[in-house]
Amino acid sequence: ASPSAAYDVVIIGGGPGGYNAAIRAGQLGLKAACVEMRETLGGTCLNVGCMPSKALLHASELYEAAIKEFPTLGIEIGAPKLNLGQMMSQKADSVGALTKGIEFLFKKNKVEWIKGRGRIAGPGQVEVTAADGATSMLAAKNIVIATGSEPTPLPGVTFEADRVVDSTGALSLPAVPKQLIVIGAGIIGLELGSVWRRLGAQVTVVEYLDRITPGMDSEVAKTFQRALTKQGMSFKLGAKVTGAKTSKDGVELTVEPAAGGAAETLKGDVVLVAIGRRPYTDGLGLETVGVQTDKRGFLVNDHFKVAEGVWVIGDVTYGPMLAHKAEEDAVAVIELIAGKAGHVDYDLVPSVVYTSPEVAWVGKTEDQLKEAGVAYKSGKFPFTANSRAKINHETEGFVKVLADAATDRLLGVHILGPQAGEMIGEACVAMAFGGSAEDIARICHPHPTRSEAVKQAAMGVDGWTMQA
Ligand code: FAD
Repeated sequence: ASPSAAYDVVIIGGGPGGYNAAIRAGQLGLKAACVEMRETLGGTCLNVGCMPSKALLHASELYEAAIKEFPTLGIEIGAPKLNLGQMMSQKADSVGALTKGIEFLFKKNKVEWIKGRGRIAGPGQVEVTAADGATSMLAAKNIVIATGSEPTPLPGVTFEADRVVDSTGALSLPAVPKQLIVIGAGIIGLELGSVWRRLGAQVTVVEYLDRITPGMDSEVAKTFQRALTKQGMSFKLGAKVTGAKTSKDGVELTVEPAAGGAAETLKGDVVLVAIGRRPYTDGLGLETVGVQTDKRGFLVNDHFKVAEGVWVIGDVTYGPMLAHKAEEDAVAVIELIAGKAGHVDYDLVPSVVYTSPEVAWVGKTEDQLKEAGVAYKSGKFPFTANSRAKINHETEGFVKVLADAATDRLLGVHILGPQAGEMIGEACVAMAFGGSAEDIARICHPHPTRSEAVKQAAMGVDGWTMQA
């Protein structure tokens, strides 16, 4: 293989990090190529992550609403029937349209998609191996590593198609399991557990820690767990899965108390392992340019730079492993390469759990503020006192606003309730501008909307909430 063309930037990986970097590079007039080994662009997020999971969450939420809520709203449609094949195929259609959309954006911005597996062959060189084994060499002034992540396997639990699955398997089960055991009470486990529970599975979530969703404000997490329990999900917290035995009837998991004690057996017909994701750098040739990884395999970087002319973004490096974070990294890194300023504030990356109710937050949790000894004030507003929530019979949850006790600067906003993910945006904007709780409290919000609860919670920081 000989160097074919010189690129200003070659990006390895076509997920939210890689494709946004490629498009931004094209916009700034850089000669850019994106190497992606999958059949389609879009990475984990579009193919087997954010988008297919949201497609199933949306469809399953409506299915459950048709069974449980329609009659009380005066809508009589008879007993809804699940057509899982159709639910899966509409998901595939949406995913297909989205990945094609990225291809279109590549063409529009004159970015080349080079199909194949990329390997760094030395400074400024990326070797690409196509599916048929043919290799080519790309010369690159800058290399951006955007190879993302993969599900972390659990020792003692071997994956087996449609029986012991990771998130990718759980997005296309051929039938609704009777008993689904989810290992890991993180966001992905709870979202996919919710999908299958709504479609009829008995779902048990086993979690090593004594709480669900680490990283979420613990008061919110407790209320969230209560809401999920009320829906029929069961939790086994403080429990460690040490082994799995598969037969044609299902899976037997050995579970021990995390604190020590007698083991027990849990039976399910499908097990979803959702204990986290780890950086993916297989065969990437990191050693050829002296790139360092930390203990957990994440690429060490200084302002996205890992070596001279080599950069890193997205899940494979530091910061929250989220698509919108990868996207921010992407713009920042390309702007740095183009000689502009590029920066991302990881303290202001919002998190969302797309269950029902949703959970969304940005900034610090109360636990973090207490631990850091920060003096803060808090305002809370329940959706039971929000008129739109009442009219829609969706009164579960609350908004909590945390602000600095001395300056009133917003430190964290936490929302539990339907559409929390849409509502958190205003907190992100306010916090990025260094706003105070009083800023949100004095800004006019539309009535009747759930967003009024954010304003009321902000008013609550200074004790002048009007409606609760
Ligand atoms: P990826 O999206 O993982 O993309 C990396 C790409 O690089 C892949 O396509 C891979 O094929 C390619 N690649 C790797 N190595 C090579 C190589 N050597 N040569 C060529 N190509 C290579 N995040 C959210 O923000 N919101 C959500 O709702 C959400 N839901 C999720 C649900 C699930 C089930 C999962 C699994 C994840 C979810 N995420 C969500 C996380 C999100 O998908 C990731 O944070 C995001 O995809 C990271 O983007 P990335 O570009 O860093 O990596």
